[in-house]
Amino acid sequence: MKEEWKVRAEAMVRRQILARGIPEGLLTEAMRTLPRDRFVPEELRERAWDDGPLPIGRGQTISQPYMVARMTWLLDVGPGDRVLEIGTGSGYQAALLAAMGCVVVSVERIAVLARHAKAFLDELGLTVTVVAGDGREGYAPGAPYRGILVTAAAQELPPAWSEELDEGGRLVVPLEVSPGLERLLVRRRVEGRFIDGWDDYCRFVPVLPGVEEED
Ligand code: SAH
Repeated sequence: MKEEWKVRAEAMVRRQILARGIPEGLLTEAMRTLPRDRFVPEELRERAWDDGPLPIGRGQTISQPYMVARMTWLLDVGPGDRVLEIGTGSGYQAALLAAMGCVVVSVERIAVLARHAKAFLDELGLTVTVVAGDGREGYAPGAPYRGILVTAAAQELPPAWSEELDEGGRLVVPLEVSPGLERLLVRRRVEGRFIDGWDDYCRFVPVLPGVEEED
């Protein structure tokens, strides 16, 4: 018999992802393989498959499954592509990209979240380079990237995110359009120039400066 979480993962993919127009593919396949309930605090496990974000401690959240899927789909990456994520949080988004075969670097400013995420990704056997640092600076040692995905709300675009984008690459970032409201910006690098387009409105926790070390 299928484990219970796998049944719930399948239902989540059908009702929240496929039903909203994200096509069947590597992304939905990878979503079925991830135990999302283990990326949230123990007391919230029952709600891990719900259609919304959940708190993961330190005032941060794991994004709604549909938002994770939407951003990943917009990023348009596949096996072997180098991807930079800003805002590791629980590690769920990074796990999804790794499960799709991407070569993933994820930067998190809260050191304890970075450490927990790395430990759990290792336990799942997923290879992700997790860096405790300020993601506004990008991560030069892994550049250039085919995809850069920011999972916190940016008030402005730091130059590093565009500079570290490979030719043909994409940057997906929730950019503040008015106080408390963001819109997904999709920036493509084409022949050295940037072409910007807008997608869904959304709400994320903010990109903050600096690093919070362990206390
Ligand atoms: N992608 C995560 C959700 C992230 S919530 C997941 O799948 O669970 C946003 C995260 O961005 C938070 O953990 C927050 O600490 C982090 N963050 C905010 N500003 C940052 C910065 N400048 N550099 C790196 N991480 C940052």
